[in-house]
Amino acid sequence: EQVELSPFLHRIVSELSIELDNHAVEVRWDEEKQPQPLFVLADREKLKRVLMNLLDNALKYMNQQPKQLTIGIKRLEDQVMVVLKDNGPGIHPDSLPYIFERFYREEASRSPSVRGSGLGLAIARQIIEGHGGEIWANSEPGKGTTICFTLKNFVDRR
Ligand code: ATP
Ligand code: MG
Repeated sequence: EQVELSPFLHRIVSELSIELDNHAVEVRWDEEKQPQPLFVLADREKLKRVLMNLLDNALKYMNQQPKQLTIGIKRLEDQVMVVLKDNGPGIHPDSLPYIFERFYREEASRSPSVRGSGLGLAIARQIIEGHGGEIWANSEPGKGTTICFTLKNFVDRR
């Protein structure tokens, strides 16, 4: 399906607004005005799953105040990039290469207070790669985590 990325992301976030409010998360948007709306060719349900898994992590692992989440949409040459930046605890550089692997959970987050099976990012990666995109993470312990993914920009040439 053709999915117009910006309204799609805004809708998911507004559906989550109660939960975001409960967590006292401040959401910021970082989007440049585009000459044309940005479309991708994607399965909506799967793309939503990716976003939900990433947002779930941001909410789950941000524990300090204030909680800030920045959602960016950028146009690259023939791709679009979505950037989700939180100001949570970050991920240790030793763990960073493994977080997209199945069942991988960082030592610090294996505590019973933060539940999870370590599948969220593996599923996100599988979906994004299945759409011909890429997903990766940058993180600095104490500063936060940034997850980026790309999808091919769909241009209707009819
Ligand atoms: P599940 O998603 O299956 O409930 P999970 O959240 O532990 O479990 P993933 O979403 O795959 O699994 O994430 C893997 C690991 O990466 C997490 O256990 C956590 O250590 C780390 N991680 C992921 N996102 C963040 C984030 N935004 N901030 C800090 N650490 C993160
Ligand atoms: Mg998760």
